[in-house]
Amino acid sequence: MNIRPRINRWTQARRSMLFGNAPLHALVQPHFVVAGENIDTPIESMPGINQQSIDVLIETVQNDYDNGIRAVMLFGVVEHSEKDDAASKASDVDSHLHRAVQELKSIHGDSIVVMTDVCLCTATNHGHCGLVHEGEILNDSSVERLCEIAVSHAEVGADYVCASDMMDGRVIAIRSALEAAGFTSTGILSYSVKYASTFYGPFRQAADSSPEFGDRSTHQMDISSGYDEAILESELDVKEGADIVMVKPALAYLDVVRKVADSINRPVAVYNVSGEYAMVMNATKDDNSRRRMVREIMTAFNRAGADVIVSYHAREIAEKGWLD
Ligand SMILES: [Zn+2]
Repeated sequence: MNIRPRINRWTQARRSMLFGNAPLHALVQPHFVVAGENIDTPIESMPGINQQSIDVLIETVQNDYDNGIRAVMLFGVVEHSEKDDAASKASDVDSHLHRAVQELKSIHGDSIVVMTDVCLCTATNHGHCGLVHEGEILNDSSVERLCEIAVSHAEVGADYVCASDMMDGRVIAIRSALEAAGFTSTGILSYSVKYASTFYGPFRQAADSSPEFGDRSTHQMDISSGYDEAILESELDVKEGADIVMVKPALAYLDVVRKVADSINRPVAVYNVSGEYAMVMNATKDDNSRRRMVREIMTAFNRAGADVIVSYHAREIAEKGWLD
């Protein structure tokens, strides 16, 4: 079985993220988790966003929760000495990312949605999203690793594993791997329509995931690719069993969001990426101007058909009541 519509209804937090009437509950706050204790390192290019160790992360998530945020997306930042060519750390259930998921779920249970990034690039020594052989990013063997990573996240309690890699056939493979391991309520958010965009620059500093050589143009979509490919990719992922389909980046691709939302029958998420966030932070010097700009952007995402919005602005929106 590839499609389990109940997954999106499994908990109150999932239902209110996807189908609720509170705009705040549709926002997902991304976090960068590092090893160690008491670490709260600002990311220079993304003011207000820090790399945090688990203890600090727990406090931050609690604070966001008290302000109304109910969904988080976690990225594990792997130490250089622990990276290798197979991205071993990414599926290590004792890693700080895995422990963070476990702790957040034990504190908040089903009252929050914990999403985890599933890719190889934060844990490979070459920084690519797949296994590399003779300079080529391999597809099928990378998918096997993605399945192992996804199952390891399900083991520690992730609500949704988020396949951000853009390898062919990974959604059906991950779904089958989850089923085989007995995880029938773990959802898959698929980065179905992900462009090889320049808007990801600040994120790569945050997640320490820049490729050492080459780029991502053999798996991410060409920025000038038309609607047909976007629809093909999202339809394929829906058929393979994706529970939520993502378009990334968001702002420069709102027309694509609308096309995808009109073409598929699953919830659509947008990723309001680091470069978009940095532009707003640079362009607005006070709360009032930022409030107005952020509201305008969030309204545009909704109008384009986004059900879920992953955004670094989520925290400030919640804290200051900008969507009230
Ligand atoms: Zn990646």
